[in-house]
Amino acid sequence: MRKEKMLVEAIRDGSVLDHIPSDRLFEIVSLLRLEELTTPITIGNNLQSTRHERKGIIKVADHFFSPEEIDKITLLAPEVHLNIIRDYKVVEKRQVSLPVEVRGLVRCPNPKCITAAEPMQTYFHVTRDTEGRGILECHYCGRKTKAEEAELL
Ligand SMILES: [Zn+2]
Repeated sequence: MRKEKMLVEAIRDGSVLDHIPSDRLFEIVSLLRLEELTTPITIGNNLQSTRHERKGIIKVADHFFSPEEIDKITLLAPEVHLNIIRDYKVVEKRQVSLPVEVRGLVRCPNPKCITAAEPMQTYFHVTRDTEGRGILECHYCGRKTKAEEAELL
């Protein structure tokens, strides 16, 4: 635990995503297009965690994720913690939370939905099931999808 904290603090400025479920790590790496960044990136997986059996962590120096990227991360892994590091200090530490609506990030799984036929943005209302997991409800056809199973655009 202490070692991990030291690694986090080794970034002068940047972003740390922590508590990523291990089975979601590489999906998140890919959706954030980390391969296109040229700043130092550290990716760890299958680390011990008290919250999950195993967790992943992503540290990116000199880069800050956009609100849209954070919304996408949230859909895949609603328990992720995002730390913003400036001058070696964690200046912002927050657990991301599901947005109340999602526009254009996710495909509607209903092949008969108007968003599948027309060149228009998808639009979902976000609610939670009894276990607190996110549910996306298509604004146009009403089809519900679990946020963690959503197909990102
Ligand atoms: Zn739909």
